[in-house]
Amino acid sequence: MADQYDFDVVVVGAGFAGLYALYKLRNDLNMRVRVYETGDGVGGTWYWNRYPGARCDSESYYYCYSFSPELAQEWKWSGRYPEQPEIERYLNHVADRFDLRRDIQLSTRVTAATFDDAANRWEIQTDRNDTVTARYLVTAVGCLSAPNMPDIPGMDDFEGDVYFTATWPREPVNFTGKRVGLVGTGSSGIQATPEIAAQAAHLTVFQRTPNFSLPARHRAFLSEDQAKIKANYDEIFALTRESFAGFPFHPIDRKTMSVTTDERREILEGLWAEGGFKFLWGGFIDLLRDDEANEIASEFIRSKIRETVNDPQTAELLCPQGYPYGAKRPPIDTDYYETFNRENVTLVDISEAPIEVITPTGLRTTMAEYEFDAIVFATGFDAITGALLRIDIRGTGDVRLADAWSDGPRTLLGLQVTGFPNMFTITGPGSPSVLLNMPVAIEHHVDWIADCLEYMRERGWTRIEATEEAQDAWAEHVADLGEQSLFVRANSWYVGANIPGKPRVVLPYTGGQPMYRERCTAVKDSGYEGFVFGGSLDQNAMLAAKKA
Ligand code: NAP
Repeated sequence: MADQYDFDVVVVGAGFAGLYALYKLRNDLNMRVRVYETGDGVGGTWYWNRYPGARCDSESYYYCYSFSPELAQEWKWSGRYPEQPEIERYLNHVADRFDLRRDIQLSTRVTAATFDDAANRWEIQTDRNDTVTARYLVTAVGCLSAPNMPDIPGMDDFEGDVYFTATWPREPVNFTGKRVGLVGTGSSGIQATPEIAAQAAHLTVFQRTPNFSLPARHRAFLSEDQAKIKANYDEIFALTRESFAGFPFHPIDRKTMSVTTDERREILEGLWAEGGFKFLWGGFIDLLRDDEANEIASEFIRSKIRETVNDPQTAELLCPQGYPYGAKRPPIDTDYYETFNRENVTLVDISEAPIEVITPTGLRTTMAEYEFDAIVFATGFDAITGALLRIDIRGTGDVRLADAWSDGPRTLLGLQVTGFPNMFTITGPGSPSVLLNMPVAIEHHVDWIADCLEYMRERGWTRIEATEEAQDAWAEHVADLGEQSLFVRANSWYVGANIPGKPRVVLPYTGGQPMYRERCTAVKDSGYEGFVFGGSLDQNAMLAAKKA
């Protein structure tokens, strides 16, 4: 009988990545899998981020799984960009439809994982005192899941209500009649602002760095839209796997300066009118590569902000300056800039006058004092590495992952780390991850891991580890591309700049999906060049017998 504390695979997290990993490894590879999830429901990021206005900013019909054509055909997205509850419903449907729940333990945080070098197994501990072992550890912890709670003096002194967008309560929050302060103007703050403003007596938005936000142009789907999407799903999913960033479209095959001023304006206006990420990934081909092209697009967006916001001083404060468009992850919004025309909304620039202290009645910047009934922190995440490093992961020689990555993360393909055999990191650092439409990146990684485990099983091998040489070469390649990219030109979570003390490195692979997939496929086809295999099922049987 199988040992109830021993698994083939332990998966950490039951969001998009963890659910698909469980499905794939259990249903296709017939492995014994246990998933641990901190939340008391499945969904990961889409379980926790339930703040007002939380909505996906990739479009519903391709921000979803492609592995099951039946699922794609039967699920009906209500509109262009699903709100958090709809994505949470979708992921719950997936959990039920594929009978995943029986292998998921909810309300359980993995606290530690230690590799047993002799047995080629991981020992995993949780905050519910579980200790289990597994041949493989697959982290599905999310790239934007470890909240960044800013370290501002007096955080515990505030007598009103404090909320973090990243850990929003399940019960609806009512801001009616309240004076609300909101700190942070990334995607979360930008989505929450119009919703809170519509309820609150007054909303004060504290902005440290303005963002280039694009209009979402959300709309409900008509039955014709549904029919068209379903009829074209094969083509849509194929495009998401081919394109640079995992969206079902390519940039237009023209450079910004290759067209006349009028044509350029017309194209940019068209992209603006269409809304969403088309502007970023479906516009001029040199947008993110050429400074002049980028500045033209940036100035176009600034002109839209100035057109929208009535008060010229507020408009100017909202206009990003000093970094190229796309260097920070651009948000997508519904009526964000329009919200600053409301009587009950004030924008406060804290770039020069930072928040000094949270007081019992509000907060104080170096310039002024504000009184609130509630403060909302939309201050983001310790991205890409944060959720991994909050687990005490120890590899061979008891080396901590936190120590191995003290100068920044190093991986082979973003999938494995030297010194941490049998651990796979879905959308880990050094893979395109957040620069792709996430479900596309996740499915690619899970499929690659499943192929690799099948390859090992066929040969009776029980240990896989990235060689130092291959990891060094990949880390250097990731760093070289990153240094050449525009991401180094802004302080953002892409480079860890939002977390004090975090090493400043470009965390995702910036070479784009086609190049990345090509490399992953080449590694697989070569018999996993750059990885060493070891162990054997016989040896494991002997070890087990010895233990018994
Ligand atoms: P974010 O982009 O990191 O924004 C955090 C905001 O808080 C920034 O404006 C930041 O200012 C500010 N901030 C952080 N610490 C501060 C401090 N101590 N004092 C004052 N201001 C501070 O975080 P996010 O908005 O949660 O978004 C993170 C990512 O999650 C997005 O880029 C996106 O990839 C994803 N996301 C997606 C969706 C969606 O699909 N709909 C929605 C939300 C988030 P600085 O810019 O100056 O650092």
